[in-house]
Amino acid sequence: MSSKVLLYLEHDGRKLQGEMTRLVSKGNEVAEALGGFTIGALVGDIGEELLAEARRLKCKEIAIVSDPSLREYQPELFRPALESILDEASPHLVLFRHSYVSAELAPALAYRCKAPIVSNCLEVEVKDSRIEVIRPYLRELCWGRVSLQGEPPYFITLQRFAAHKDAAANDEPPRVKEFRFRPPSKVRIRSEGITRRAESEDISKAEKIVAVGRGIGERTNLKIVEEFAEALGATVACSRPIADLGWLPVERQVGISGKTVCPKVYIACGISGESQHVAGMKDSSLIIAINSDPRARIFRVAHYGVVADLVSFLPVLTAAARRAPQPGKGTESKKG
Ligand SMILES: Cc1cc2nc3c(=O)[nH]c(=O)nc-3n(C[C@H](O)[C@H](O)[C@H](O)COP(=O)(O)OP(=O)(O)OC[C@H]3O[C@@H](n4cnc5c(N)ncnc54)[C@H](O)[C@@H]3O)c2cc1C
Repeated sequence: MSSKVLLYLEHDGRKLQGEMTRLVSKGNEVAEALGGFTIGALVGDIGEELLAEARRLKCKEIAIVSDPSLREYQPELFRPALESILDEASPHLVLFRHSYVSAELAPALAYRCKAPIVSNCLEVEVKDSRIEVIRPYLRELCWGRVSLQGEPPYFITLQRFAAHKDAAANDEPPRVKEFRFRPPSKVRIRSEGITRRAESEDISKAEKIVAVGRGIGERTNLKIVEEFAEALGATVACSRPIADLGWLPVERQVGISGKTVCPKVYIACGISGESQHVAGMKDSSLIIAINSDPRARIFRVAHYGVVADLVSFLPVLTAAARRAPQPGKGTESKKG
């Protein structure tokens, strides 16, 4: 029986999505328990920069389908491209990051392989050579453990990537295998190009995050949060209502329908701590919450909590952060 774990490597055409190193880390852990190895699947119009980044991943192999017609994501082209990798690799397990892309690709591929699929999982484990997953049910009111039945391959989309220790992975760079792209004869929808918003920062790679929620009250108050983040050298992220209101781009949203982040410091400002948000940030190394409600759920996951009004408290913190000595800039501070 094949014990390979195939990982779908998501990218934006130039760089891998920030969660991919953690997807590989999780994949290696599962592959090691199965006695197999990981293969990263890269589909697109793959340039040097992206290939070099993929080669730094701790996979044993990188399987590539590269073609100019795959420059923009199109399910009707990406699906057959991935199928050619699947046919050759015949993996035991196929792991995706839970995203809008995998929500299309994973079920379509599982259907074609007549294989079981479990989406939106929080964890995947190997128990007595069986794959088990934990996933939320009833809008996260409860979690359930599911043991995958039937013949492999199994398809899983993962919404969370806990900070797993890297399982023993090969020290050598991965072998790269290229596959020729055979476009399907009939394509019903063809994209003529996608206009991207100029969003420079990938929050999933940030080491320090200041996240803002509905507690900020007014759009004009965002400036207070941005100044605080700037003083700390942190990246600004947000909860869903802030992205829905269009106050910050959706790429800044943390949570199950946004990004999963794992920074060294996560400062949640005016965020209630609903499970859909917490799922995207709970693995941060240090969580600090600022909320005016002492019973806010965010305090259950926070390491430190401050009960305060953001609008009056953050400017004080910003001023203190600006006065604090910056690493590498000596310890002198100006006295006014
Ligand atoms: C299918 C689905 C997917 C979802 N995906 C996501 C997701 O990816 N990400 C996400 O974030 N949400 C997601 N949500 C929405 C989620 O359920 C919550 O509604 C959302 O996270 C709440 O955002 P919030 O904490 O900013 O706002 P609220 O829940 O309104 O909380 C605001 C908080 O601010 C505090 N506050 C108010 N005024 C102040 C003040 N002056 N100073 C300090 N604190 C103050 C309040 O006490 C409160 O705790 C999803 C929901 C569904 C159903």
